[in-house]
Amino acid sequence: MTKKLSIAVLAGDGIGPEVMVQALQVLRKACKGIDIDLKECLVGGAAIDATGKALPENTLEVCAASDAILFGSVGGPKWEPLPPNEQPERAALLPLRKRFSLFANLRPAICFPELAAASPLRLDLVAGGFDILCIRELTGGLYFGKPKETRQEGTERIAIDTMIYRDSEVERIGRLAFEVARTRKKNVVSIDKMNVLENGLLWRSVMKQLAGEYPDIELSHLLVDNAAMQFIRSPRAFDVVVTENTFGDILSDELAMLTGSIGMLPSASLGTGHRGEFRFGLYEPSGGSAPDIAGKGIANPIAQILSAAMMLQYTFGLDEVARGIESAVRKTIASGYRTRDIFSPDTKLVSTAEMGAAICENLG
Ligand code: NAD
Repeated sequence: MTKKLSIAVLAGDGIGPEVMVQALQVLRKACKGIDIDLKECLVGGAAIDATGKALPENTLEVCAASDAILFGSVGGPKWEPLPPNEQPERAALLPLRKRFSLFANLRPAICFPELAAASPLRLDLVAGGFDILCIRELTGGLYFGKPKETRQEGTERIAIDTMIYRDSEVERIGRLAFEVARTRKKNVVSIDKMNVLENGLLWRSVMKQLAGEYPDIELSHLLVDNAAMQFIRSPRAFDVVVTENTFGDILSDELAMLTGSIGMLPSASLGTGHRGEFRFGLYEPSGGSAPDIAGKGIANPIAQILSAAMMLQYTFGLDEVARGIESAVRKTIASGYRTRDIFSPDTKLVSTAEMGAAICENLG
């Protein structure tokens, strides 16, 4: 790899800057010998305080000139009195998703064997851990379909949301799921509601059609209500799951909860755009800015560190470097290091910085 990796770094608010420092340290060490250009910019509440806007022009320009965005988290009580459209999450994250056509949200739900006790599920269901990748369509369906309105009809108000999917939108996310499955256990579970929804029928027929192009991948289908049950009954049976926007919103949170530790979970939102050989993506922890623990040095930096690993894999194709970071994280957990959120008796309680340093140390 000779090309420069150009990355916009948007740490944001709350624990964002604390965990970002650790992720950058790990990233720099893991990418030794690779030319990386990290450009740090303001976003969220920090940007509102400095410039009056949650997503300043300059930040957007840097993002547009980069191959990927490594995002921390935004928001906090200080900015809650602002009008809804000026709130950090709504005024920063949503425009970024729109501007870069981020159509696919990848949320791994990884339960490390050593942390199985943190899962709210019975130990026999999660012993040995599990690793599910939930792929959610992010730009279509019920959240964006028109008409979308509330109107008066006689004496009542009626609210209307519209669920729309096109062949091309399902095909785009379906293809991504099959391609990602090739790098994992070669199986995809597609989730829909084809027994009730026209959208479900379309979704399933496109997925079946696509399967013909990926004979090496095993495709199966689940209705969304059944999927919600099966995740709880046997999480270890799943590897890659793919679904539409609304179902994915709900199921990805269910899966996150099953791991028992939000501070461990990264995410990726992939765009349609490419700069040269690189697919554009935004990478961020699944959790928020955690104002309750911000500034205390106790946040878990692993979600942010694994977000950087996902960036190396999905935008830059540096799978081996990404695997190196993941195995350093596994090794650190296996050797008993725990931030407060995942601490249990007989393990070693460490700070954000100590966890970051231990992971760096464990890099090959
Ligand atoms: P949150 O994820 O910030 O916090 C929920 C709980 O998880 C808290 O107890 C927190 O301490 C804990 N937690 C989260 N990340 C952790 C970590 N890395 N290490 C240890 N513990 C961690 O969710 P919330 O409390 O609902 O939201 C707080 C703020 O974050 C709000 O302003 C919200 O709008 C914002 N938020 C931002 C994003 C984003 O930037 N993408 C996402 C969600 C929420």
